[in-house]
Amino acid sequence: MIAPHFWRESKAKFFKKDLFFVTTPWWLRKLFTGCVWDIKTREKVIYLSFDDGPHPTITPFVLNELQKYNAKATFFCIGDNVKKFPETYKAVIEAGHATGNHTMHHINGWKTEDEKYIEDISEAGKCIDSTLFRPPYGRIKNSQLRKLQSTQPKLQTIMWSVLAGDWIATLAPQKCFQQVKNNVYPGCIIVFHDSEKANERMSYALPKLLEYFTAKGFTFKKIEENTGEDI
Ligand SMILES: [Zn+2]
Repeated sequence: MIAPHFWRESKAKFFKKDLFFVTTPWWLRKLFTGCVWDIKTREKVIYLSFDDGPHPTITPFVLNELQKYNAKATFFCIGDNVKKFPETYKAVIEAGHATGNHTMHHINGWKTEDEKYIEDISEAGKCIDSTLFRPPYGRIKNSQLRKLQSTQPKLQTIMWSVLAGDWIATLAPQKCFQQVKNNVYPGCIIVFHDSEKANERMSYALPKLLEYFTAKGFTFKKIEENTGEDI
């Protein structure tokens, strides 16, 4: 049984800017039923995901690192960036990875009207052919989630089990790696970013993680479309 003060403290921590949970607490998962938080498996599989790309130099770096370990991953792309860098987007798909919708303009659901939010996702859907969706910042209102489920029932909302925190400029790259490493479990979904803001930490932690967990017998897979719901 978890004491109420834990609930209050962890909730305050979550909603405070730049403080974040490396792993997702049970109550947060419960708030978002119908979303996927991890993939149920007993196999040693890790699901890496990369948000906010494609980026013309950082995404190719990621693709190259993944290829060294025959690893597959899922790229939640911003529609705007897909339009700007179509060749990079194509390279992600041609390398056999999965892509997902991360809205057209990377909008924050908490600050956006429902109608507008759904529209932005639909717009991104025109250049990102995928049934996977991840809300930017993980911020989506329950009303938006329900609307999405009723208007685009095939779209599956994919959250995460481990956040790398790679966008936080004050986080040491070594700490970023350690935090992820210490929280990996079979079937976990890890979030990195193929973005300039995250590059220093991501480009340090990713090769280390690939090396460390490959040696431990793990494989890295993409999230399949129509994956089971974690309710
Ligand atoms: Zn994002």
